Amino acid sequence: LPNMRRKLVAGNWKMNGSLAANAALLAEIKAGMAAVAVCDVALCAPAPYFAQCQAELAGSAIALGGQDVSAHAAGAYTGEIAVSMLQDFACRYVIVGHSERRAYHAETDELVAQKALRALQAGVTPIVCVGETLGEREAGQTDTVVGRQLQAVLNVLEAGQVSEIVVAYEPVWAIGTGKTATPQMAQDVHMALRAKLAEKNSAAAVEVRILYGGSMKPENAVELLAMPDIDGGLIGGAALKAADFLAIVAAAR
Ligand code: PGA
Repeated sequence: LPNMRRKLVAGNWKMNGSLAANAALLAEIKAGMAAVAVCDVALCAPAPYFAQCQAELAGSAIALGGQDVSAHAAGAYTGEIAVSMLQDFACRYVIVGHSERRAYHAETDELVAQKALRALQAGVTPIVCVGETLGEREAGQTDTVVGRQLQAVLNVLEAGQVSEIVVAYEPVWAIGTGKTATPQMAQDVHMALRAKLAEKNSAAAVEVRILYGGSMKPENAVELLAMPDIDGGLIGGAALKAADFLAIVAAAR
């Protein structure tokens, strides 16, 4: 079967930006997009800037996304963001289970799964992040760890929902470090993740996009995105520079 998956390049701005900086970045990205975009493009912005981003991205081919969502619908959860709030700003995607949330906010596999389900039920596509630490890789536990992380999400989904998620493989040791997994290292994990998806729904496994994240930049994007099971990127640092982000988008064809 030919690979019919449309690539997705998603910027993860993390806790960066300001009204002024965002305006400049968005203007540059919008101006450059038409020339390069043959894939889906999304920007996952800090929630206080959703209104700004929604207004700036209106009429463009760039989708807005959030960086996290509460597992709860609404109520007494100070500081959290409900999926209905993401919907108010037309967020099409939301990152769940980013390694920074898992590490600094003690998010468990089960909580991440509940967040993914909450997003899906509202029609917001969860970008489910999985990834091993350096210690886990060196101990030969990569497939076990990412398999466990993905399985927790699959456990709460109906088989028919599997095709609606996006998965992001982000080796923790590659995030923000300048160290990238080699294309083959990433491909091996992506293949294992797709096999795990296939255990739940083999037809959906062919459709689900599995993004690579971790120091993806213009210099390595072409090679990574050429691998058969790498269907796009989740881009941190390089998403803060319009030229770099656009070059990665251009590499995703
Ligand atoms: P990076 O971040 O591209 O800066 O490594 C990726 C991510 O954490 O999503």
